[in-house]
Amino acid sequence: MPWRLVLATNNPHKVRELREIAELYAPGQLELLLPEELSQPWEGIEEVGATLEENAYLKATALFERLWVPVVADDTGLEIEALGGLPGVRSARFVGSDAENRRAVLELLQDVPPERRRARFRTVLCYRDHLRTLCVEGICEGWIALQERGEHGFGYDPIFIPEGSEQTFAEMAPQEKNRISHRARALRALIAELRRLEEEPAEPSSEQQPTLLPREHLALLVRSCAALARAQLERVEQLLHQGLAAGIAPELFYEAFLQGLLFAGVPAAIEGTQCLQRVCAQHGRSWTPPGSGPAAADAVHGERLFERVYGEHAERVRARIRAASPELEQWILARAYGEILARPGLPLLEREFCAIAMLAAAQWWRQLRAHLSAVRRWGVSRQQCRWVLEQLAEELPPEQWQWLWQEWHLVD
Ligand code: IMP
Repeated sequence: MPWRLVLATNNPHKVRELREIAELYAPGQLELLLPEELSQPWEGIEEVGATLEENAYLKATALFERLWVPVVADDTGLEIEALGGLPGVRSARFVGSDAENRRAVLELLQDVPPERRRARFRTVLCYRDHLRTLCVEGICEGWIALQERGEHGFGYDPIFIPEGSEQTFAEMAPQEKNRISHRARALRALIAELRRLEEEPAEPSSEQQPTLLPREHLALLVRSCAALARAQLERVEQLLHQGLAAGIAPELFYEAFLQGLLFAGVPAAIEGTQCLQRVCAQHGRSWTPPGSGPAAADAVHGERLFERVYGEHAERVRARIRAASPELEQWILARAYGEILARPGLPLLEREFCAIAMLAAAQWWRQLRAHLSAVRRWGVSRQQCRWVLEQLAEELPPEQWQWLWQEWHLVD
């Protein structure tokens, strides 16, 4: 499965280079998206960090906390030895525009002979997801040219000669720069880290990572689940209209409503599905519920998911269910966890958010607490959980909302 990361940048040159480098070193494996491609335009942040690492971290964190999906930020600096490492972290704001910055560097180095014009480009990439923050760097050693040369590239490229070359970056074909550049080295290091993490059997697994569902889509899913659990079908219809108009695939609503089977009962799931079919037809789309996901007998898959969701409490919870009825335990593992929760289309974490919405709407406080604790164990922040609950403010009567809020404060 390809990694899908959103880039915390508005610099079209960086985007182009990173995509080209990704295709060069991990063809088909790394999809780099822009926030605006998820309908989440990104105005960037003020880069107030004292280091490239700090700035990359700040950018990645700000975007991650907006989108809650895996993101990567690039911060790059040109460090010139004869200038004590300047412009370094101040490369973007050295004196002004890219052209002015280049001129300023050449002027400052006017009397510096070629052998003392050593410099390096350094790129720090910061990756963030729900569980991890990773920073990697890529360095390209070289020299500052005596004058600007070349038309390719951007920024300081016309005045930087990488070690082992006679040409400036701006004189090289883009593919050539991408083979040796600081950015290429950093992205390769990140790809290696992502591969290593994927191979690690560490819990929670990538299955728990959300896909790149835009936040407003998740909000509509969560809210329609709450409305469904309260049997407010007119409201469900209204939210479905909004969702389909916003481009949410009917399958995602369907998968979200299947949580209703587990938490709001069979009638709710059926009514939700019928409602969805009706609204799809009104939008001129023919949609029917897809067949079931993994084989019904997939209790082993179910067992694994169950353990992941309940963590160290899994065995205790299973024992309690088994004490009530061994058939019930089998049904829950094979159907609920093996078939419903493991269905393709909607990632586990987002299913959990939908379940949380239904539990809140149905006022099943103990279960709600258990689910909130489970997603917290996966590394989901309090802020994220809070955001999910906030989406329910309009869907629940005020007094129920007050209860919900009190419950929320009991979750550590
Ligand atoms: P930032 O990483 O967006 O803060 O960019 C720092 C400064 O370095 C900007 O002025 C960029 O134009 C410049 N810059 C970043 N990457 C490169 C590169 O690969 N080649 C040349 N200049 C770059």
